Amino acid sequence: VSGVSSDAPAPRQPGQAMAAGGNYLIQPHDIQAGLDGNQFFPVYQPKISCFSGQLVGFEALMRWRHPQLGMVPPDKFIGCAKNSGLIDALTRRMFDLSLEWFAQHYGSTSVRLAINISARSRLDDVFVEDIIGRCRKCGLVPGQLIFELTETSAMEDPVASLDLLTRMRMKGIHLSIDDLGTGFSSLLQLVRLPFSELKVDKSFVITASQSSESRQVVQAIVGLGQSLGIQSTAEGVEDHETLQFLRDIGCNFAQGFHIARPMPADEASRWSHFSFD
Ligand code: C2E
Ligand code: MG
Ligand code: MG
Ligand code: MG
Repeated sequence: VSGVSSDAPAPRQPGQAMAAGGNYLIQPHDIQAGLDGNQFFPVYQPKISCFSGQLVGFEALMRWRHPQLGMVPPDKFIGCAKNSGLIDALTRRMFDLSLEWFAQHYGSTSVRLAINISARSRLDDVFVEDIIGRCRKCGLVPGQLIFELTETSAMEDPVASLDLLTRMRMKGIHLSIDDLGTGFSSLLQLVRLPFSELKVDKSFVITASQSSESRQVVQAIVGLGQSLGIQSTAEGVEDHETLQFLRDIGCNFAQGFHIARPMPADEASRWSHFSFD
């Protein structure tokens, strides 16, 4: 008996996927095995104030250290996790692993922890209460948490979203629209959702120093935030010129390789601020 059920795909030989050029398609049972084997963990990317360079928060980003495939980026497995329903378990795992670390270093500070949430995960009131309960237990207030939802996620079912997101916001959790500018949303429906932050998609930010169209899109989104009284974050800041541009247009916060790469917990807890030279 091989221990592999008959409907499961043939077991992979070690190294096979790498030899095949990394094109191995992630299956739900791979993700389940990763959960069982504790192969998922968060890395943390600092977010700073564009004006002071001060640390204002961290975004937790999921990583998968797969025994054969090596590091698998989220873009390769989040889709499969959503379709198979395993996204809930992954989201919980991210909370389990990041809340305690974050509370230990940043409890009772104004530093915030952002976690990516996918709309298709069954985020219900029980989940929200559970998270808030855990925050209390480890000395965090719900206002230190930001749930990032992509524009497309938030608009999948705007009516249901409004209901749940409003209850989350009323409990103090902050909500952020991630990857803004990449969907084709009704702006009116989008701005009716109770968000505290707009995140300009990195595709515009990465190209801002090269392209005046990109700069115009970034400026328009930041301007939308300003007129709505919502703070803006630019993700994907890769150079000094872009950070300068963001200051000029009044963008509040920035994240990107020019400032800091996503890093493991021990390194992140030693990161303090960005120095403008
Ligand atoms: P995102 O939430 O928009 O996260 C930003 C992505 O941009 C991250 O990629 C980050 O590493 C990358 N990035 C940050 N600064 C720069 C930069 O200056 N230049 C460039 N080129 N890239 C930069 P990552 O970690 O591969 O994550 C990709 C996406 O996967 C995330 O996009 C998010 O949508 C999703 N994801 C990551 N972790 C989780 C999670 O725990 N749960 C869920 N549901 N989704 C997650
Ligand atoms: Mg995000
Ligand atoms: Mg994003
Ligand atoms: Mg993204």
